Parts: sequence; C-alpha cells; structure tokens
Amino acid sequence: MGQEFDCDVLIIGGGCAGLTAALYAARSRLKTLLLDKLQPGGQLATTSEVENYPGFPEPILGPELMERFTSQAQRFDCEIRSGQVKSIDASGPVVRVVHTDEGDFRAKAVIVASGADPKTLGVPGEDRLRGRGVSYCATCDAPFFRNKAVAAIGGGNTAVDEGMYLTKFANSVSVIHRRDELRATKIIQERAFANPKMHFVWDTVCTEVVGKDVLEKLVLKNVKTNETSELEVAGCFVLIGTKPNTEFLKGLCELDDLGFVKVNERKETNVPGIFAAGDCEDAVWRQAVTAAGFGCSAALAAKHYIDNLG
Ligand SMILES: Cc1cc2nc3c(=O)[nH]c(=O)nc-3n(C[C@H](O)[C@H](O)[C@H](O)COP(=O)(O)OP(=O)(O)OC[C@H]3O[C@@H](n4cnc5c(N)ncnc54)[C@H](O)[C@@H]3O)c2cc1C
Repeated sequence: MGQEFDCDVLIIGGGCAGLTAALYAARSRLKTLLLDKLQPGGQLATTSEVENYPGFPEPILGPELMERFTSQAQRFDCEIRSGQVKSIDASGPVVRVVHTDEGDFRAKAVIVASGADPKTLGVPGEDRLRGRGVSYCATCDAPFFRNKAVAAIGGGNTAVDEGMYLTKFANSVSVIHRRDELRATKIIQERAFANPKMHFVWDTVCTEVVGKDVLEKLVLKNVKTNETSELEVAGCFVLIGTKPNTEFLKGLCELDDLGFVKVNERKETNVPGIFAAGDCEDAVWRQAVTAAGFGCSAALAAKHYIDNLG
C-alpha cells in the first residue's frame, strides 16, 4: 500500500468496549494500539461491587474486573498508552491520523470507545459518596437497596422509568424534580402516579448530599419558596442525563442531538474506517456487558474493513 502506519487498529478508550475491541483485534493478529486519557478501566473501575457481569457468580469489584479485561487484551500484545484524543483526520483514502496530546498516530481503522459520563448534580458531598449511596444507574445498583428508602432525581423518561424499576427493591422512592410536572411521556407518568411506592417532591432541588461513610440524607430546597428540608435516604439515584465523550468527533462523524455517535448494526460510522462502540453510541442500555459486546462487533467489523483494503 506504500503507507506508513503506527498500527492497524487504534482504539480510543479503555473501558469495557475498548478493551474488548482490543482483545478481539489483537487476537486476530492486527497490530493494536489502545489510547486512554486516564488509566484503562473506564467507568466500571470507579464502582465497587459488580453483580451482573456474566461469568462471576460472586460479586467482583469494578477495578478488579477491569484489570482482568486489561491483562486479557495485553496477553495478545495489545499496546496500551495514555493520551487524550483531540481530533481525527480522515481526509486521506486509507490513513486515519489520530491527533492526541501525546502526538499523532496513524492507523488503518479507528474504533471510538470513549464512553459517556453521567451528568452530576455538582453539590457538596456528591463526589465523596459516589458508590456509597450515590449512584447514576438504577439497573446497576437497585438491588443494593432492598427494603430501603431511596431518592431518584430527575423528571424525564429515564428518571421515572428507573424510579419505577427501583420500586421492585426499595420500599419507597422519592422522585425529586425541580419543576411541578414531569417531562416523562404521559403513559409513563400515569404508571408512576399509580405506583404506591412512588412519591413526588415537586419544585425541589438537592443542594447537598450528607453522610459520614455512606449516604444518610439529602438537603433539599424548594425553588419556589426557598424553604429547605432534609430527606433521609440510603440511596440517591441521579438520573438527569448522560453526556457522551464525543466532542473530538464533531464535524467528522454524524452524532445525534445528544452527542451519541450514529452507527449501523456493524458499528460503522458514516466515515469509512471509523467505528464506534459502547456508551459513546448507545443511548439506551449503557451496561458493561452490552458495551463489551458492541466492542467485539466493532473489532470484527474493523478487521473485515482492513482485510478488504487490499
Ligand atoms: C458508578 C457506576 C457503576 C456502574 N455499575 C455497573 C454495573 O454494576 N453493571 C453494569 O453492567 N454497568 C455498570 N455501569 C455502567 C458501565 O460502567 C458502562 O456501561 C461501561 O463502563 C461502558 O463502557 P465503555 O467502554 O463504553 O465506556 P467507559 O467505561 O466510559 O470507558 C471510556 C474510556 O474512554 C476514555 N476516554 C474518553 N474520552 C477520551 C479521549 N478523548 N481520549 C482518550 N480516552 C478517552 C475514558 O477515560 C474511559 O476510560 C456503571 C457505571 C457507573 C458510572
């Protein structure tokens, strides 16, 4: 082909999607480079017990699970380096140049697996009690709050839907919403209002998350009256949205209104040779196992693409 490449496949992000893509690419004997702006591990490395990753009948700690993902990819000679991707140049017919704060890398195919960050409240106590009562994912953490009182913050479909899911475990779910009506669709609202475990706290925001070692209570403020109150809860689910880490793709790949990368079922973006997998393209499920599965799909599709370059 007469072109110089640093690798066959360059993977952006070392979470469940990126490390699974790395495993599949490296094991197919593609020269594979994975870049992460932090340590590899992604979101799951920030949590404690993971109970729903298949193959682990006993809970496994998030950091330990992600160390296993990392060593499995490295066993097949995937190179892992730190670097924050700033942009990608796809103007050439084959070469994809990835610009990072650590220099440029040339690859035949790029898999974007840069994940998404849950939106946070930004209030005192939130960061410290993350994983100790403060959660951003009811599907992941609801079973830890069996027969306890929890709060769900938000008023959209996700907040109300996940709030309803929480009622299968918790004995009460207080939905805290800054307005006096929900943004969720009518049918979801009707179901939520009919559920005896759901309680609605209107016109209210959370201004502080309080607890010594684990969450004990929330400080709330009514935005109309400025009155403050406290709510004792064991869990606080912050369900106010998710922000995909896709700024560096703006102007290159098609993104949806929220910034998720648009892909087809082969995880191809609209740009040949650029694939996307995991939470950065999945606005719906956002689970470790789905991200891993999508990473596998993207790597297989990237291999097929490279094989057909000639
Ligand atoms: C607290 C918490 C608990 C959770 N618990 C569970 C659970 O119990 N079970 C479950 O199934 N799921 C759980 N999840 C969800 C799960 O972690 C995610 O669905 C999964 O991590 C998504 O994997 P990913 O590879 O798509 O993205 P991520 O894990 O977000 O990884 C993306 C990686 O990309 C890197 N990155 C981002 N931008 C750049 C850039 N510009 N350049 C280079 N690198 C970049 C990031 O540093 C990160 O390492 C939890 C999530 C959180 C936050």
